[in-house]
Amino acid sequence: MMLYEELALAYDKIENTSGTLDKIDILTEVFRKADESDIAKIIALTTGKLHPDWKGEPELGIAERMAIQAVSTSALVSESEINKLLQKLGDIGAVAEKLLRESGQSTLFAEELTVDYVYEKLNEIASVSGSGSSKQKIALLSGLLTNASPIEARYILRTVTSTLRLGLGDMGILDALALAFTGTRDNRPMIERAYNICSDLGRIARVLAEKGLEEIKKFKVEVGVPIRMMAAKKLSSANEILKKVGGRCIVEYKYDGERLQIHKSDDDVILYSRRQERITDQYPDVVELVRRHVKAKSCVAEAECVAIDPETGTMRPFQELMRRRRKTDIEATMDEVPVALFFFDILFLDGEDTTQKPMLERRALLEQIIDTSDRVGLTKGEVTDDPTRLEEIFQDAISTGHEGVIAKAIHKNAIYQAGSRSWLWIKLKASYKEGMTDSVDLVIVGAFHGRGKRAGVYGTILAAAYDDTNDTFPTVCKIGTGFTDNMLEDMKKRLGPHIIERKDPSVISDMKADVWFHPVEVIEVLGDEITISPVHPAGRGRIPGFEGGLAIRFPRFTGRWRDDKEPTQATTVEDLIDMFLSQKSRS
Ligand code: ATP
Repeated sequence: MMLYEELALAYDKIENTSGTLDKIDILTEVFRKADESDIAKIIALTTGKLHPDWKGEPELGIAERMAIQAVSTSALVSESEINKLLQKLGDIGAVAEKLLRESGQSTLFAEELTVDYVYEKLNEIASVSGSGSSKQKIALLSGLLTNASPIEARYILRTVTSTLRLGLGDMGILDALALAFTGTRDNRPMIERAYNICSDLGRIARVLAEKGLEEIKKFKVEVGVPIRMMAAKKLSSANEILKKVGGRCIVEYKYDGERLQIHKSDDDVILYSRRQERITDQYPDVVELVRRHVKAKSCVAEAECVAIDPETGTMRPFQELMRRRRKTDIEATMDEVPVALFFFDILFLDGEDTTQKPMLERRALLEQIIDTSDRVGLTKGEVTDDPTRLEEIFQDAISTGHEGVIAKAIHKNAIYQAGSRSWLWIKLKASYKEGMTDSVDLVIVGAFHGRGKRAGVYGTILAAAYDDTNDTFPTVCKIGTGFTDNMLEDMKKRLGPHIIERKDPSVISDMKADVWFHPVEVIEVLGDEITISPVHPAGRGRIPGFEGGLAIRFPRFTGRWRDDKEPTQATTVEDLIDMFLSQKSRS
C-alpha cells in the first residue's frame, strides 16, 4: 500500500518542476510504484474529484471557511490567527503545514497515513449530509489532519478545497498513465479515446493497471455513460471550408440552443449537458418528446434543444433557455418556454457503437429512428461541393434566425471524434465576417469597483482564457462595455458566491483586481481584434516573433452567459494564438 507521504512528496516535486514533460515523468513514477488498487484513488486525490461529476455522487464540499475551522481545531490555533497567516501565505495548505511544523506534530506519534486511508476518509467526509453536516465534516477533517505530517496536511487541504495546482490537466494524467502502463506515450491516443468515451479517468486508470491496453482498446459507447462531445473548428470562408473537409460536405444549420446528449433505454431517458451534468430534471418535456419520437429501443443521440415561441412556434434565442434553466418552477416555465429538438448525430443504436461510422451513415440511422413532428426533427442540412451554394445556405440560415452553419465532412473517415475539436466539423457564423473572427468564451477571474454611475456594482471585470498546456487561466482583457444596468446587477449576484480573498492559484495575472473570483463563470465576449499585450500573460513566450502575451482589443460582453460551458471549456490560449496568426495572415 502506498503511503500518502510518498504521494505528497511527489506533488511537492511536481509543483517545483517547470517543464510539463518532467512533471509527467514524476507522476509516471508514482503510478509505477503504486499498487493496482491504489491507482484510481491517486487519480481522485490528484484531481480533487472522488467521482466523475456525471455520476452525481456526493462530492467533498469543503469551503475554505470550513478548512480554516478544521485547521484551527487540529493545530490548536485561533481562527483569527489562521486568517492572518492566510493573508501572508496565500493558501490554507501552506498555513496548516507551517502550524504543524511549529507545533512539532510528528509522525512518530501519529498513525502512518496510506493513500487508501486518506481516500476513504475523504469519501466519508463527502458522504455526510443533512443538518449539522458542516460540523461533522469539519470534525472528520480535523481528525485526519491530527494524524498528518506537515507536508501531508498541506496537500490534504489543497485536495479538499480544490486548490491543488500541479499544472497537469487530464491530458497530462493520461500521458503519465500511458507511460506507466504501456511504456510509451505513443499509446496516449488510444487511451484518450477510451477516456473520451467513458468520461471517467479513474476507470481508465484501473483498467490499464489491472488489465492493460488490450482491454482499453475494447471500450465502447454505453447507454447511460456520457461521451465527451465532439466540437467544431471555425473558418470564415466557404472556399477554405470546402478545402479542409475534402471537397464535399453536408452543410447544416447551426441552431442557437443547448446541446443535449440523450441516452435512451426503453422508457428511461437521461439528458447530459455539454459539461456532462445530468440535466434530465430540467427538461421533463424533452424526456417526453424522446419517449414519443425516438423509435429506438436503446440509443445515444445528440440534438440541439431550442426554445420556441408558444404562440408562433418560431425559434427564440438561447437566453430564453438559460432563463428557464435557472427557474426553480420547471413545470410553469415549460409552458412559457416550450422547446423543440433538432437531432444531428447518433453515437449508439440498439447495441451497436456507431461513432466509427461515417457522417452520412449516421445521419441515415437518425432518419430511421426519429419520428418527426413540429417539435422534433433532424437539423436542416444539404450536401454540396460548391462554395457558392455553401454561401447561399449560410445566408438562408442567417436570415431565418440561425447562428450560421456547420459544415461536416462526409468522407469515409468522417467519424464522430469524441472529445475533440476537429476539422471534420467547421462552423461559419455571422460574427466571423465582422471585426474579430469570432466571439470568445472567457472566464471571469476578477473585477474592479465601479465609480460614479456604477458605484455599488462592478465597473470592469477581468477575464481570462484557459491554458490547457498547464491548466491555468491567464488574463486576456478587462471588460467595461456591453453592460446594461440589469446585466451589472445580475453580474454582481452571480459572481457573489465565487468571491475569494486572494487570487486563485490557477489564475495568472499581472494586474491586481479589487475583487478576485474562483474561475467558474464563463461569458461570451466580442472584440475588434487580438493584439500583443505587455500586461496580459496569455501565450507569453509562445507567439513566434513576439515577446508579449495576447489581449483582446475593445472587448464587449454579448450578454450571453455560457452556463453550458465549464471553465476548462473556455477559449484556449492555443485558440487565441491561432486566431492571432490567421488575423495577421489576412491583413
Ligand atoms: P459556439 O460558441 O459557436 O457554440 P462552442 O465552442 O460552444 O461554439 P462548438 O462545439 O464549437 O461549440 O460548436 C458547435 C455547437 O453548435 C454544438 O455544441 C451545438 O451546441 C451547436 N449546434 C447547433 N446546430 C448544430 C448542428 N447542426 N450540428 C452540430 N452542432 C450544432
